[in-house]
Amino acid sequence: MKAVRLAGAIAVGLTVAACGEEVKPVVQQPPTLTVGIKFDQPGLSVMGPDGRPRGFDADTATYIAGRLGVAPEHIIWREARSDQREQLLNSGAVDFVVASYSITAGRQEQVSFAGPYFVAGQDLLVRQSEKSIERPEDLNGRTVCTAEGSSSADKIRKNFASRAKLVTRDTYVQCVGDLINGTVDAVSTDDVILAGFAAQHPGTLRVTGHRFTRERYGVGVRKGNIDLQARITQAIRMMIDDGSWRRSIAENLGTSGHRTLPPPPVFNAPDKEIAPGDLTQLDPELVQITQSIAATFNAQDWEGFQQLVCPETAQDIDDLVIQYTPQYDRTLGPEVKAAGFTKTITGITQTSPDSATYLAHESFSNIPDKYRHYFKDIDYTGTMVRRDGAWKLCSIAADFVEP
Ligand code: GLU
Repeated sequence: MKAVRLAGAIAVGLTVAACGEEVKPVVQQPPTLTVGIKFDQPGLSVMGPDGRPRGFDADTATYIAGRLGVAPEHIIWREARSDQREQLLNSGAVDFVVASYSITAGRQEQVSFAGPYFVAGQDLLVRQSEKSIERPEDLNGRTVCTAEGSSSADKIRKNFASRAKLVTRDTYVQCVGDLINGTVDAVSTDDVILAGFAAQHPGTLRVTGHRFTRERYGVGVRKGNIDLQARITQAIRMMIDDGSWRRSIAENLGTSGHRTLPPPPVFNAPDKEIAPGDLTQLDPELVQITQSIAATFNAQDWEGFQQLVCPETAQDIDDLVIQYTPQYDRTLGPEVKAAGFTKTITGITQTSPDSATYLAHESFSNIPDKYRHYFKDIDYTGTMVRRDGAWKLCSIAADFVEP
């Protein structure tokens, strides 16, 4: 594994002298990292003439490398197309992958992820003059292009293959070329990628602007490399907390027209399962407050909910709830406002007299048909802290799951 080279690599060592030989100082090479990234996704990462990629994914990778002790000029960039990412990681060809790489259950069987560091949603790119395609349901008999090995291709195959004709290419740039020359009618992948291409071809291409999935981008590492995963997770948190995340988004996506969601909550230990606690062993007040969290949430009693939340993290929790509750998504139509949601506490683990975590599951009802792909169930993990005798919810993480 290349990351091993990081340890003490700048040290000046001495060669062990054989009998009578002179002892020569050896200056070891500075540490390097090999990063898998896209070379042709405007706004996220486009390879520059100087051999360095530019964009939000490139900034994220560079920031992480910096936190791992590797300077930008010592990063070795390797192209990672959609269908190459798992292979690049598991062969050891790259140390990590930052390449619009959605965390999915299927991929988690092959690789490990740190993050998420960004949330996007699958959408459609069409020619400006196209009047009849707005949503994937409109693809009836039309041809849609996406990249081989992408979750976008999986989604079209799974949900729309009976209507749409699917064409897959190695990269989205090829799909965009096909769209411009009329070979295909639409390109489908994450809105953030499509926005970058639309900005490159103003007046020619447009994003329809109806996200129909949620894509959580993770940094891929070799399966089971928990140590690197934890260090990258920490780096992502720092990038969000110190303002670098927002700066990079503004610089790289600010003019693309992409409606960027706030930074996602970064998982603590994504590969570690938190077992549901034994309810009989818990502080009864903890159980009662946790149930009240679900009850106020379900009643949309936000004032009551706020009473149960740590004041210093109330805003973060609010942002997350807004981000994960489709009814509050301004890009969706008014008919979703009638959808109902129910949060159920599925487990509580008390880790000390004053700390605990709970798991909750949220499902939706009364969803209009055209939005059914968008409303996934949500698993929440909440962190509870007892202060001055009162339990409060101090942080929350969420994850979309298939119902
Ligand atoms: N985020 C999706 C994926 O990981 C689509 C973008 C891509 O292919 O990089 O498959």
